[in-house]
Amino acid sequence: MAQLSTRQKLEILADAAKYDASCASSGTTKRDSRGGKGIGSTEGMGICHAYAPDGRCISLLKILLTNSCIFDCHYCINRRSSDVRRARFTVREVVDLTLNFYRRNYIEGLFLSSGIIRSPDYTMEQLVEVARSLRQDHDFRGYIHLKTIPDADPALAYQAGLHADRLSINVELPTAGGLTRLAPEKDAARIEGAMAHMKSAIEDKRDSARRIRSTPRFAPAGQSTQMIVGADGADDRAIITRADQLYDRHRLRRVYYSAFSPIPSPSAVLPLKRPPLLREHRLYQSDWMMRFYGYSAADVAAATDEASGCLPLDIDPKLAWALKHRGDFPVDVNRAPRETLLRVPGLGVKAVDRILASRRYRRLRLDDVARLTTSVKKLRPFLIAADWRPVLLADQVLPLATASPRAEQLDLFG
Ligand code: SF4
Repeated sequence: MAQLSTRQKLEILADAAKYDASCASSGTTKRDSRGGKGIGSTEGMGICHAYAPDGRCISLLKILLTNSCIFDCHYCINRRSSDVRRARFTVREVVDLTLNFYRRNYIEGLFLSSGIIRSPDYTMEQLVEVARSLRQDHDFRGYIHLKTIPDADPALAYQAGLHADRLSINVELPTAGGLTRLAPEKDAARIEGAMAHMKSAIEDKRDSARRIRSTPRFAPAGQSTQMIVGADGADDRAIITRADQLYDRHRLRRVYYSAFSPIPSPSAVLPLKRPPLLREHRLYQSDWMMRFYGYSAADVAAATDEASGCLPLDIDPKLAWALKHRGDFPVDVNRAPRETLLRVPGLGVKAVDRILASRRYRRLRLDDVARLTTSVKKLRPFLIAADWRPVLLADQVLPLATASPRAEQLDLFG
């Protein structure tokens, strides 16, 4: 590998990390360095580099330790057979960069992943050493997210949990068949085994912290994973079902989706075209429905198109579900329980809570609902209010759903 300056390495290794979507910094414990102790904070505002799928602004130094890899996953630009410029940071360089960027208020924390060099254990040792040095040598209190290597010794993943806020282990593809075909050196059972270990370690530590106050922190922001969408033939129904299994089995905080993007010199087994980025967005919306609106995976799957198995792109999945369940609407805004109101297209959690609080004192009219929500236009066909009853659900909704020109999502990395 040619001798590169830190700046050149940063150019290569920050660019190589852009394919990783799972870097939102939500869910960790509050730490700061007020009072002159330590450096960093998990709450501070810095210059923002990216937006999380939930719209939150985050600023992390997001890099790979190295983009060299002994594996040859077809969809990955860093695979062994890829003809890209390679670079590798030392542990010291990553630590220094993180501290320097933090001091300049560029970042809130570090997101660190890596290609696999020498062996999974060796690579994992290096990642852990970065986190250990930041925490122990420099008393760094900012956010740290480490990508762990499923094939590494579980003891190393445990060490990572002692220093990082969040750990993630990528399932990569929604189906075991897709993984075998596109990442032949990876194994779905080993990946899930690593997630199961992590779940037990997180739960044990949490349990122990309830009894013994001095229990060290362990991955307070939990574990997450990432799935590539559109590289294999899996439809949205399969993806939603898989995500639900992972949430259920391993208590994941988040499943991130990353629309497959064609890479330079692609392998012949990959599709030539990228899936629409809107597909990734619809999957995030379906994820939101399961996590916050009480839909089951089967409910969300019912919103998919019968023939393609995918969520419609022109309307959001909550509206698609409602249109397939017209018999459940309209609902009475003055009587319906919370879980029913949450299924009304256009009503979010905050709006529903406001409605529930307001209707304790009086019967709500449509104008009252309008004041409690951002837009009543979408709601009208689905709600009955004291002075409002819609005439025909389908006649009203379908023109609304198709009236606006289809939004085209811009490509972040085009
Ligand atoms: S192991 Fe990770 S870095 Fe290496 S080729 Fe596979 S996806 Fe890319």
